[in-house]
Amino acid sequence: MISAKSAMNPIGDTEKVETLAGVECRQGSRRVNYLRLSITDRCNLRCVYCMPDEGIDFVPHSEILSYEEMLHLVRISVRNGIRKVRLTGGEPLVRKGFIPFLEKLTALQDLDEITITTNGVLLKEYAADIRNCGICRINVSLDSLRPERFFRITRRDLFHKVWEGIEEAQRLGFDPLKINVVAMKGVNDDEVLDFGRLTLDRPFHVRFIEWMPIGKHNNWTSEKFITAEALRNRIAALGELDPVEHEPMDGPAERYRIKGARGEVGFISAVSSHFCDSCNRLRLTAEGRLRGCLFSDKEIDVKTPLREGKGDEVLAGLVKRAIDEKPRGPGRLSSRPRKCIRQMSTIGG
Ligand code: SAM
Repeated sequence: MISAKSAMNPIGDTEKVETLAGVECRQGSRRVNYLRLSITDRCNLRCVYCMPDEGIDFVPHSEILSYEEMLHLVRISVRNGIRKVRLTGGEPLVRKGFIPFLEKLTALQDLDEITITTNGVLLKEYAADIRNCGICRINVSLDSLRPERFFRITRRDLFHKVWEGIEEAQRLGFDPLKINVVAMKGVNDDEVLDFGRLTLDRPFHVRFIEWMPIGKHNNWTSEKFITAEALRNRIAALGELDPVEHEPMDGPAERYRIKGARGEVGFISAVSSHFCDSCNRLRLTAEGRLRGCLFSDKEIDVKTPLREGKGDEVLAGLVKRAIDEKPRGPGRLSSRPRKCIRQMSTIGG
């Protein structure tokens, strides 16, 4: 983009740049333009690496941001350079009123992209409504193609519902339809090639994500951890991997197409090789806290000032502070993986 005017902020090193397309927030070479919005901490699955089966301390409903509050904070974030929003959770599709909220979100000005990450259980039911809101990109998380194993990983016997959701989304033309797989040694890594084969005759984008040591209920061990590189080497058995060029709003995945395949495979090395230098993400938790990094417990409360009636300038200042203070490197993760305090379901993945 062409820069028309720029000014250094005296208290942080974030640079606000007015471009022909509006304002961008740059932190050094990084441009923070992507907000992951967790709209609920509730979920209809209980993935073993994410949530316990019982005894979960859900956030009281009154402490969860209302849809109106979220819309307000997204508007403020747009003023600070956010151009892409991903709705996540918990499971976003379990929150009542999701579709009317999505309609309002898609009506906001200046957002280039809105996407959703779902476990797919309710996708068949909502796919058409989501598409009618103008959303055409969706991510479905799926760690096994085997119903029994899916049950063991998610503690719910719902594989067929997820698969029906994926087929419905394909039928409705979601493009890309990404399938996110967290690969764990001895748990599902024997399905890596099956997931890769899915891309041969379907236009799916399968993304292998390194299992991260996040959350107090995560049973992460280095023995069960597999690097993205090891996964890519395995996938290479299916054919030559042609690199796919990055698009402007792309995430951190290294993308490839298996020769002759309709779809793509991608590898996200969140643990083995950090992408902090290019990380463009900010997270807003369902209870209204901004987080600059998945691996840092540092959060900024935006709900309290919002509910106290503080003006947009104050809120915009907090969003800017979250961008300013976004960690520049992996910090403690580089020396020894350590779990952060929150569960992934409350941060938003
Ligand atoms: N319910 C939605 C879903 O399943 O996609 C959105 C929330 S879920 C927390 C978002 C993503 O985070 C899922 O793909 C899930 O597999 C992933 N995830 C959760 N814990 C993880 C971990 N420890 N390491 C890597 N990915 C994780």
